[in-house]
Amino acid sequence: MENVTFEEFINFVKEYNPDEVERVTKAYEVAQRFHDGQYRDSGEPYITHPLQVAYILAELRADGDTLCAALLHDCLEDTTLIKGDIEILFSKSVADLVDGVTKLSRLNFSSKEDQNFANTRKIITSVREDVRIIIIKLADRLHNMRTLGYKSKFKQKENALETMEIYVPFAYNLGCYQMKRELEDLSFKYLREDDYKRIFDEREKIVSENKDMLDQMAHEISASLSESNISNIIIPRIKNIYGIFSKLENGYKFSEIHDLLALKIIEEKIIDCYTSLFYIHNSYVPIMDKFRDYIASPKTNKYQSIHTTVISPSDTLVQCQIRTRLMDRIDTYGLPAYWDTDKGYARIRMQEELKKDYQFYTSLKEIDSIFKDNEEFVTQVKEELFTDKVYVNYNGDTKELPKGSTGIDLAYKVDEEGAPKLVNLEVNNEKFPINYVLQNRDRVKLITGEEDTVNESWLVEAHTTHAKELIKERLNKESK
Ligand code: MN
Repeated sequence: MENVTFEEFINFVKEYNPDEVERVTKAYEVAQRFHDGQYRDSGEPYITHPLQVAYILAELRADGDTLCAALLHDCLEDTTLIKGDIEILFSKSVADLVDGVTKLSRLNFSSKEDQNFANTRKIITSVREDVRIIIIKLADRLHNMRTLGYKSKFKQKENALETMEIYVPFAYNLGCYQMKRELEDLSFKYLREDDYKRIFDEREKIVSENKDMLDQMAHEISASLSESNISNIIIPRIKNIYGIFSKLENGYKFSEIHDLLALKIIEEKIIDCYTSLFYIHNSYVPIMDKFRDYIASPKTNKYQSIHTTVISPSDTLVQCQIRTRLMDRIDTYGLPAYWDTDKGYARIRMQEELKKDYQFYTSLKEIDSIFKDNEEFVTQVKEELFTDKVYVNYNGDTKELPKGSTGIDLAYKVDEEGAPKLVNLEVNNEKFPINYVLQNRDRVKLITGEEDTVNESWLVEAHTTHAKELIKERLNKESK
């Protein structure tokens, strides 16, 4: 990927945020002065890095504070500039953002490992202060991953692994799918070079074989919608390389991956999405168990879209993702989409949305308050928040839980009062014990009795911190 020049960057900022051009230019000049004489592993002047990071954020329509902080983001760690200077030259808000992305000094820790765990915790918990810190971190990581080729083999593997374990799940939890997919593929390339190449080539082949068919389908759907005066944009979408790899690992063949080839169908209004669905099902045979309505039940990272997989004219599977324009922005950019939709209020809106609607935020708060030790905290976050999810059906609603959750976890999620009285589960009309590990699409009923049945063994059988804490509380009360 070509580097952008400062002129290209600032012209881009001018287009969507002309009022901030002066301040952002000043941030660039300060960063350039302080990084003077420093070089990247690629041999380029160091300033190219913060400039590209700021450009990635400008593409998300980031506000002025964020752009200034992105340009200055490595100054506290790598130059003589101090936080107080940034506060005087810019603002407290910019200084806090830069401080937020700055690593804790090695001097405060007895070992490198301790320092690493403390830093990971600092990054993860920064969302509680200001989600823009983690968004800057994600952009920083993305540029570092794009330029990872200049690092040693050891560093490449180390950074790729950390990206997969921390940054990819973070991007997912904030709904930043575009960033998530690029981070996944870049990491995967360094972790499993041969698999990456093999899948890359096969994917290219499938794309070229099916290009005409996808265009034809897009054309047909678009024509029938336009006939009914429904405006629409249809964009082909191919699954990312790591996404394909995960499916292959789970035993699927290329031809069985139901969303390898997809069409994004973008409408103005929600009602038009359902009309589109009607046209699609009317023209192509749908695969019944691949239908999902995430408009009616959004994912906990706010993803909304109707998914249906149909059989294409050339007999391959094609997924249709139907959504409105606003949903598409949020599906692509995640929480940062509010920079564009809410302009000056975006910062407050993002923090409010996070508190109100993003499940990982609530769970993170619990884990943060319970696990004092940094290593235990990081381990718990990885196992509980940064892991795959299961989706079960409870009372007609879709509930999302971390993979490995049992009936006990579901009970404490949906009914805190009744949970201690849980005696059995009914899963898909069959009886199961309460420690049954939930599977995708299970239809679950909770059977409760008159008396509390909660006991010590529940602490082991529950998976989520939320359930464990409530069980502990209850057991403590009893022993008193
Ligand atoms: Mn950096």
